[in-house]
Amino acid sequence: MGVMSLAQVEEILEESKKIGTVDHVYFEGGEPFLYYPVLVESLKMAKDKGFDVGLLSNAYWATYPEDSKLWLRPISKLGLRSLSLSADPFHYEDLESERTKNAADAAVELGIPVNIMSIDYGDTVKKDKVGEAEVGFGGVMYKGRAAVNLTEDAPKKSWEEFDECPHEDLEDPGRVHVDPFGFVHVCQGLTIGNLFEKPFSEIIKNYDYRSHPMIGPLAAGGPVELSRKYACTPDGEYADACHFCYELRSKLREDYPETLCPGQCYGEEE
Ligand code: SF4
Repeated sequence: MGVMSLAQVEEILEESKKIGTVDHVYFEGGEPFLYYPVLVESLKMAKDKGFDVGLLSNAYWATYPEDSKLWLRPISKLGLRSLSLSADPFHYEDLESERTKNAADAAVELGIPVNIMSIDYGDTVKKDKVGEAEVGFGGVMYKGRAAVNLTEDAPKKSWEEFDECPHEDLEDPGRVHVDPFGFVHVCQGLTIGNLFEKPFSEIIKNYDYRSHPMIGPLAAGGPVELSRKYACTPDGEYADACHFCYELRSKLREDYPETLCPGQCYGEEE
């Protein structure tokens, strides 16, 4: 498991400023509240540097209503753009778990803009709100662990249908993810450099999707083109483009360990 230090967060924020086009910074995990003091300082630092700041949590900490306010009070003073809470049967028994409600109610009471993010996996009883917090539903994306654990019973289609990347603008990404090992991800496990080895601003300024061994073909024709380029014969059908993409990348990882990493994104312990 990787954990980012406060000094590393500061360096990343400084580099983000240099890029010139970064205006939003979102803290997510894993679970960022596990490192609470460092999280609060990091949020403050990001706000002080002029970023719009958001935060994603599974609300594991919101065990009691009053105690939930203790957790959120320091954060309420920082002027967050949003606190998003993950809540669905993959996180808790239902959308309205006690913890989700406690966290959402505490955020509303303290004036923190809050929303609930839930996965629409078909038979969920859909609610528009948990307390005062709005609920947004997103479809299941079979990336990472979901590609391994959730695809067995999912309806499948022929691999030939997945000829584009449906979720990321690979030619001109509007966002990237940074992990605690320093890898900069355009999509989970699809990296364009390591900011502990090369300045973040340089990685972004030098981004050229055409010359990237994985992103080039994915941008040109989705997972179908990736399989063609590397002569990876598809076997079977897939739940979605990301499932196919993940299976291909898992096979290619040994030959491209610097762009298909870290191992945690591919179910490996590190
Ligand atoms: S997993 Fe592949 S197909 Fe899915 S969003 Fe990422 S790059 Fe695109």
